[in-house]
Amino acid sequence: MKILVVEDDTENMELFRDLLRSQGYTVLEARNGLDAIDMVWRERPNLVIMDIQLPFMDGLEATRRIKENPSTKDITIVAVTAYAMKGDMERFIKAGLDGYIAKPINIKEFKTVIARFLKGGVNPAPSRE
Ligand code: MN
Repeated sequence: MKILVVEDDTENMELFRDLLRSQGYTVLEARNGLDAIDMVWRERPNLVIMDIQLPFMDGLEATRRIKENPSTKDITIVAVTAYAMKGDMERFIKAGLDGYIAKPINIKEFKTVIARFLKGGVNPAPSRE
């Protein structure tokens, strides 16, 4: 299973890379929305973990463009964000995001949440402990 992580923060990227690799996933990386689109097109990952605030093109715009393309629209994209309020959720859904994971990520639940998204499960309720 290939997972593309789109994240401009180096520490967050390292955390995702370590967590996902330790679970046996192949991790692809992009640092901005434009690279994310390019990588989705070339690599067809099973799942995209998308930061929202990114340089050059933000995560919402990148998601919109991936979902507009018939050949990539079925790829599951989940946002990772610290700000998920009511208005944000509407913007996420409009952009075509399939769900979101709250930042800071809950490492204990991360594995289950990712597995559920890979199976195409419904948006798991974000949880904070
Ligand atoms: Mn960011």
